[in-house]
Amino acid sequence: MQKINSNFIAGAWVPSVDVLKNINPSDTNDVIGEFASAAVSETEQAIDSAFAAFPAWSRSSPQLRHDMLKNVGDEILVRKEELGRLLSREEGKTLAEGVAEVVRAGQIFQFYAGESLRIAGDRLDSARTNVEIEIAREAVGVVGLITPWNFPIAIPAWKIAPALAYGNCVVFKPAELVPASAHALTEILARSGIPEGVFNLVPWQVSVAGQTILNSAKVAAVSFTGSVATGRKIAQSCVLSSPMKKMQLEMGGKNPLIVLDDADLDFAIECAVNGAYFATGQRCTASSRLIVTENIHDRFVAGLSERIRELVVDHALKADSQMGPVVDQKQFDQDNEYIRVGIDEGAKLSVGGEQLKRGTPGFYLSPALFTEANNDMRIAREEIFGPIAAVIRVADYESALQVANDTEFGLSAGICTTSLKYAQHFKRNSEAGTVMVNLPTAGTDYFAPFGGRKGSSYGSREQGRYAVEFYTTVKTAYTTS
Ligand code: NAD
Repeated sequence: MQKINSNFIAGAWVPSVDVLKNINPSDTNDVIGEFASAAVSETEQAIDSAFAAFPAWSRSSPQLRHDMLKNVGDEILVRKEELGRLLSREEGKTLAEGVAEVVRAGQIFQFYAGESLRIAGDRLDSARTNVEIEIAREAVGVVGLITPWNFPIAIPAWKIAPALAYGNCVVFKPAELVPASAHALTEILARSGIPEGVFNLVPWQVSVAGQTILNSAKVAAVSFTGSVATGRKIAQSCVLSSPMKKMQLEMGGKNPLIVLDDADLDFAIECAVNGAYFATGQRCTASSRLIVTENIHDRFVAGLSERIRELVVDHALKADSQMGPVVDQKQFDQDNEYIRVGIDEGAKLSVGGEQLKRGTPGFYLSPALFTEANNDMRIAREEIFGPIAAVIRVADYESALQVANDTEFGLSAGICTTSLKYAQHFKRNSEAGTVMVNLPTAGTDYFAPFGGRKGSSYGSREQGRYAVEFYTTVKTAYTTS
């Protein structure tokens, strides 16, 4: 069992008064460790140290930032197996998924190492003679980064790396359920040559220090990923704080995957299995609504049901596991509650949805498929965040598109079709931020922008070169000689 009862503040490991227990969801007897839980005063110290470090760091050499971020990326990649194992042990996704996530985190740091050398401005001639206009991008200041549990290293990476690359100082608050990955990442950052105060880890519990980052006048911006309910609270705090904070909110999804009559059946089934059940369905981009046209419906449901029954659900670290456990008791209860809700609403639970016993005590749920669902049901409108999908039968492409867009969310949307006409029309008319044609709704590239529309997101995009919008602010300078 690891015992890391320290926060990382001002370049040093500072003991914390409180600790958090980290439990393996595949085996609740396995206590991974006890990790620091920051108090209000510790969070305030972290903000102060980031604030003090900002003037020097924001004007630091881009080469320094490049080298530091590259060191971090390189070390993550070299240690991908070990870090992937730790991640899978604390979050419950399979080892292959854990290692893949770690690789992604390493690639993100390497990508933003390069971006720190490419911070470009612009220049215009003024309408007035002999006046020139320069437009420069500058770091925003101290940024508070608040992350969820379902991607314990990739989401922190896609916030921390651009924040640092563009010259900001960071106060990072990871989710309570996954402190081990956050600590491992912090150890790597601490070794990378990063100056004191530039990066701080304060894993506070919401009940203890929830408002500290949000209330502080020294924090200029907050990037949050998590649920809509929390995002709304964070938005209110950012607007009410003085001065108001820049904010970026990435939240939930209720992502549709449309399967048209002309789709390649086997391919569509694989897209649905991947999108709905990989990572135990605990992805914001999971396909939770499978919108299927009449003539392929029965064959699709039969084939998908067969594939779901074959999925091996077991301990995340077992080599043959294809789906790990649900992350904790609370999420497990929520999943079961939605299974009850779906049945009560009149949908047919065609496959799964049962608590499973395995060799170790864990939160094992068999992947569930509802059929005969409609888009007004709660199981089709609310984010469940578990291995549960609902098939909605529709007459044709036009009604499939209407159902797909009839949601308050807009993160990802997919279509399986061999028709170029429908693929093109869907790309243009889907109301989601990410559109997938003949691909699962989940699974994006680390160098492309990521984010949603409608209730799924607020603010500018994350990842790729688009992250510059959030992590820099523009200054327009007029000069005459
Ligand atoms: P959550 O909203 O419960 O928590 C997210 C983070 O916010 C955690 O660190 C939590 O401690 C913190 N938090 C909670 N209340 C807070 C408050 N009042 N003030 C400040 N911080 C607070 O979400 P979760 O359960 O950790 O994650 C699951 C959610 O995240 C799902 O809705 C999922 O769709 C979403 N998600 C979105 C994306 C995306 O990019 N759009 C990616 C992954 C997950």
